[in-house]
Amino acid sequence: MFGAMRWKAILNYNLEQNFWRNMENKDKQKTFYCYICKEKKPKTDFHSDNGRKQGVCSTCKTCAKKRTQHNNYLREYAKKYALKKENIQKLLTRMIMRKAIKSGILVRKPCIVCGNKKAEGHHQDYSKPLDIKWLCDLHHQHLHRGILKL
Ligand SMILES: [Zn+2]
Ligand SMILES: [Zn+2]
Ligand SMILES: [Zn+2]
Repeated sequence: MFGAMRWKAILNYNLEQNFWRNMENKDKQKTFYCYICKEKKPKTDFHSDNGRKQGVCSTCKTCAKKRTQHNNYLREYAKKYALKKENIQKLLTRMIMRKAIKSGILVRKPCIVCGNKKAEGHHQDYSKPLDIKWLCDLHHQHLHRGILKL
């Protein structure tokens, strides 16, 4: 009698162990859907997110990393592009100025401060290519450093 009960207990214990092991495996095998790569991946491929019902992020680790990198790339690109746009305006303005001088629309003048004939065009406003102040190298530098005020 005692022997049978012991065997039953051992059997029950094993069954219970198996039950929990299966549950654990099921949890490990449970896959989650990544809404970026549209793939089903195991829980270990996701960052945990306790704010969500499913307990993990809606994006897999790989895609989350890629997304961060992409966002950083976009931010860098935006910065660079903004700088470039400004430079393009400057280049364009100088190009128009040179063309205007070549075609005779614009005539080079001496420095408006000292009369030096070797003057260069200074733009107060790059959106106005033909609005130029003629200054020699020195006075041009002075103007940009704020020593000279016009
Ligand atoms: Zn993914
Ligand atoms: Zn000058
Ligand atoms: Zn200038």
